[in-house]
Amino acid sequence: MIDARFSDTITRHLIYALGTDPDHATLRDWRIALSLAVRDRLVDRWLAASHAARKAGAKRVYYLSMEFLIGRLLEDAIVNLRLEDEVRAALSALGLSPEAVIQDEPDAALGNGGLGRLAACFMESLASLGVPAIGYGIRYEHGLFRQSFVEGRQVEEPEDWLTQYHTWEFKRRNVRLRLCFGGEVVEEAGKAVWRGAEAVMAQAHDTPMIGWQGRWANTLRLWSAEPLHGFDLDRFNRGDYAAAAEAEALARTISRVLYPDDTTERGKELRLKQEYFFTAASLQDILHRFEDEGGALADLPKKAAIQLNDTHPAIAGPELVRLLHDERGMPLDQAIETARGCLSYTNHTLMPEALECWSEDLMTRLLPRHMQLIERIDAAHAAENPGRKVALTAHGEVRMGELAFVMAHKVNGVSALHTDLMKQTVFAELHRMHPDRIVNQTNGVTPRRWLFSANPRLSRLITGAIGEGWVCDLDQLETLEPSLRDPAFLDAYATAKRANKADLAAWLAEAHGITVDPEALFDVQIKRIHEYKRQHLNILETIALWREIKANPNGPWVPRVKIFAGKAAPGYAFAKEIIHLINDVATVVNADPETNRFLKVMFLPNYNVSLAERLIPAADLSEQISTAGKEASGTGNMKFALNGAPTIGTLDGANVEIRDRVGEENFFLFGMTAEETEIRRAAPDHARQAIAADTRLGGALKAVSQGVFSPRDRHRYRGFVGNLTGHDYFLVCSDFTAYWDAQRRVDAAFADPGVWWPMAARNTARTGWFSSDRTIRGYMADIWGAVPIDPA
Ligand SMILES: *Cc1c(COP(=O)(O)O)cnc(C)c1O
Repeated sequence: MIDARFSDTITRHLIYALGTDPDHATLRDWRIALSLAVRDRLVDRWLAASHAARKAGAKRVYYLSMEFLIGRLLEDAIVNLRLEDEVRAALSALGLSPEAVIQDEPDAALGNGGLGRLAACFMESLASLGVPAIGYGIRYEHGLFRQSFVEGRQVEEPEDWLTQYHTWEFKRRNVRLRLCFGGEVVEEAGKAVWRGAEAVMAQAHDTPMIGWQGRWANTLRLWSAEPLHGFDLDRFNRGDYAAAAEAEALARTISRVLYPDDTTERGKELRLKQEYFFTAASLQDILHRFEDEGGALADLPKKAAIQLNDTHPAIAGPELVRLLHDERGMPLDQAIETARGCLSYTNHTLMPEALECWSEDLMTRLLPRHMQLIERIDAAHAAENPGRKVALTAHGEVRMGELAFVMAHKVNGVSALHTDLMKQTVFAELHRMHPDRIVNQTNGVTPRRWLFSANPRLSRLITGAIGEGWVCDLDQLETLEPSLRDPAFLDAYATAKRANKADLAAWLAEAHGITVDPEALFDVQIKRIHEYKRQHLNILETIALWREIKANPNGPWVPRVKIFAGKAAPGYAFAKEIIHLINDVATVVNADPETNRFLKVMFLPNYNVSLAERLIPAADLSEQISTAGKEASGTGNMKFALNGAPTIGTLDGANVEIRDRVGEENFFLFGMTAEETEIRRAAPDHARQAIAADTRLGGALKAVSQGVFSPRDRHRYRGFVGNLTGHDYFLVCSDFTAYWDAQRRVDAAFADPGVWWPMAARNTARTGWFSSDRTIRGYMADIWGAVPIDPA
């Protein structure tokens, strides 16, 4: 259905929805008008899908996640509705640049990093596969902070994405649910009754998630916290204006900010409130829907598959038991069984400091009934498994990982290695008790956003070779294999990558005032800044390389551009120091006339989904260099490989599976295995030994500690160097030499186009398995028992 005058529709929205005169409209006005016009095309399909799911009485998937890092939505909608040509024509008729309009949209940054982006890819795949699903989370007023640098240091500012008209969301004024905190549990007629002391309303906001070709659409339902009653008119009339608004402010606090820290737990009470708030609202909503559609409560597991994305919604176990047992009278044992039949849990980390625990005191104060139920669940579990010792509470704390495990019928890891380690370490005892419970679902990324839409040049080349079927069946990339031996195809592949790099170079010059040689090797490490991800290993190698080039400026150096991006948690001092050091190194190295033909370093501010979409198609090399055993899966690694950037990486997370698929000769492996790191860490003085054995590493560390990169503050990095020469928990020093050697293998391969381009193209052709469509099919079969609906 081609609307010949789509531009008229856009103009109509501009005038009648926004009340704006086309002669005075800004780019933003036009972007919002376009979004509304595109939204009109989407809504019919969305409502039809929800009607079809209801009519079929289908089992629904409910994905509970503290984070949904969805990024921009306009381009996603245009691409999935296949409106690209129509929009392009309309915008050009209106004299607007499609790129400028698309890029005007702020990123919805409702997540920290990989975990939230996974949730977003899953929502897209669920819709593209036609699986009835609802994503549940929090509508944070302020998403993740906006990052900038002042003299190389990270500065955080609040992200005000909601100050603009958020065109994609529908506020459901009729979906407001009441939730309680605190208070006490009393007995009435032999039944426990929780009398909460404090109440808030959870207000639903729905965003449609449209699938490929618009055949299906699901809902992302985000909750905002509102006061039970409006403001206090009595107090207001008495002139006490601040007090009149107090209750409202207090309630809204719950959905005010996204915790900017995805590895350690803090802001305890508010964080626990957020977790309970969105989990409890979502479960009420799920039960209302189930009851609306009719059916015996015992059949809930046949209609609802509830996935907990990490432990943040783990309170769902006791809450669902409470809703079934306390509020609906189901016997306790049956309530536990029924809840377990619905619930499943995804583990995302093995690092002890990131496994959530809540003090029993806090839990008792905030959620007294849940504390009792946790004890009942613990006792029931112990009775079912005599002789085994696993406690849900220990040392005065509730262990949310164990709670989630015990209340889930399936528990999954996110890569083969991570799942194995999970069985051997954190959940070893629980795994012995429930040997069938743990399953693996290796993460994936949506090919619509991360290849089709982000990399149109490569997409056209692929489609020209094998047709367009790959977009919703990424395994078809395998059929590129014969083309990999065709010089014309490889030429075109290289041409596409070069054009992407030229675009990026032009943008870097325009937006950041940095000139880079588009022929240089673009070496990219973009992800959260964390010691385990080892951005500092990368910058130390950069320093060593710079020193080596200076010592031999006429050597046959392969020109490189080192690109970094990523945010550090505001309270994570060491991560912020890494950022500062990289910026300091960039200042010195980029200004060095002796070396800057060969080496440039840059740290781009405010990493987010849109920046990733810009950088990944232009990358030559993907840095995936975490300490083995620490990265659960990674998904950045998959995006790069798909876009033809081979990995330099350790045997960690999904790198292992990427290497298995692309072939070891198309992957730059280095470093210790997870097992070897454990042994190495036990060796006293491992860092000092490694430094003594490698003069490049020693020289680089010395340059840092002597203030070469901080001439006006020579001792700036004393602590940083002390950490590495001291306990060096993440084994940066011990892996340095192997990393250096691997980088030189990269140089050699890149210098030979006959080696490099086939290698890059093989990465694309062999990583179709990393589609989140495959991951979602795995969850459907092994965990949810859900099936797609054919909308026809
Ligand atoms: C993919 C992605 C991530 C995850 O990256 P990893 O390298 O797997 O840690 C984080 N943030 C954004 C914006 C992403 O797009």
